[in-house]
Amino acid sequence: MDLRNKHILVVGLGRSGISVAKFLATQGCTVTAADNRSEDVFGDALSEIRSLGICVALGPHNPEIFENCDLVVLSPGVPHTIAPVNRAREKNIPVIGEIELAYHFINIPIIAVTGTNGKSTTTLLIGEMLQQSGFRALTGGNLGTPLIELIDQQETADFIVAEISSFQLDTIDKFKPLVSIILNITDDHLDRYEGFNGYAASKARIFENQTVQDVCVLNESDATIVSIAEKLTAQRFAFNCRHFNENRSWISGQTIWFHTPDAGDRHVDCIDIPLTGCHNLENASAAGLAVLAVGGTISGITGALQNFKGLSHRVEYVDTVNGIRFYDDSKATNVDAVSRALESFSSPVVLIMGGRDKGGGYESLRPRISQCVKQLIVMGEAAGKIKSVFEDMVPTTMAADMAQAVKLAASFSAPQDSVLLSPACSSFDMYDSYAQRGRDFARTVERLKSVSG
Ligand code: ADP
Repeated sequence: MDLRNKHILVVGLGRSGISVAKFLATQGCTVTAADNRSEDVFGDALSEIRSLGICVALGPHNPEIFENCDLVVLSPGVPHTIAPVNRAREKNIPVIGEIELAYHFINIPIIAVTGTNGKSTTTLLIGEMLQQSGFRALTGGNLGTPLIELIDQQETADFIVAEISSFQLDTIDKFKPLVSIILNITDDHLDRYEGFNGYAASKARIFENQTVQDVCVLNESDATIVSIAEKLTAQRFAFNCRHFNENRSWISGQTIWFHTPDAGDRHVDCIDIPLTGCHNLENASAAGLAVLAVGGTISGITGALQNFKGLSHRVEYVDTVNGIRFYDDSKATNVDAVSRALESFSSPVVLIMGGRDKGGGYESLRPRISQCVKQLIVMGEAAGKIKSVFEDMVPTTMAADMAQAVKLAASFSAPQDSVLLSPACSSFDMYDSYAQRGRDFARTVERLKSVSG
């Protein structure tokens, strides 16, 4: 991709947008960087790009700058269907995202992970499994370091493992990973897509440019994935697999089995691994298949699983207060993540849900909640909506904030019970991020412990 002397508009100045602007400034092009927020939210984050000669346009988008450039690079936080972007497309100006741009400058194979849930965990697991198999791997994308920042480091690695969100897939064009992975597709982000089918179609784009030389690892128990995979050209590696496939993985109790023509039937015993929950065995199974596809080893897979502790805010144990165990699953921002978290508990759960509604329903959680939740606490903007779905089957109480939610949860719990924060909503009604919400939960639990102590 030759960008010299081109005029490029970067829209959205979050971490990846700023990195894109800086990268483009090194490529001999003229860069304008636009964001509809005002100067005060950025602090001094823009001074560096200004010093590189980049023109910064803040506040409501000026349609003219979208129509007078050679290329638009859109950040994942900016919907790709807003009016000025559509106008640029109508004028045949290409609109791409950071992933697409980075792809043109990456020369090593990419393993790309998408799905509604489990992307971050699986991306990091693959990185570890590759390292333990003797390869050098960089991880990034939607998690951690943007792909554009990995371009400079690629010479130090054999593979890039990239977490890719649906918003990032909306703005690809030629992006073609050597291995793509689709973990699961369930309701999420319905506030940004025209229905579930639109969201699923976005996920399917991860394999749209793959050829028979490439591999797609997919969840064969997920009906939506099986249906979108009818268009698959890449070699099919299936996990959660009931049918016979040449390349497949399946789970039996706490054991993950892999079958590949090279390795035959091999298994990994997961009884003593730190990761918990059936959903994490699925993530490990998908990760293992991807690693075997590129020459990794069963011992590399086993070694990584024995050491991988999991990420913060994903069913993370916080502490025990008066015999009640507290868990932070703040990253569970959709109903399937909550359902899979609840599946991992064998004792009664007091569940804290709520935050900003994302446009889907909560009804699908009814069977799971009736099975294992003894008390529901709801908070945030979506509290009323969630309460109305569950109050006929489980005692449900509203809380004004996290402090009250934790206090109420403790008062409804008995020793051996678990309190689980698993919101099924985004955090943006009360917090800047899921991580901030999770930290607030953990701090509140620690305060509770100090006064009970
Ligand atoms: P993502 O990057 O896709 O958001 P994470 O690994 O960060 O995925 O996990 C997000 C949430 O989803 C957490 O609550 C986690 O417990 C849950 N989760 C992880 N893997 C799965 C899975 N395979 N299916 C359903 N939920 C999962």
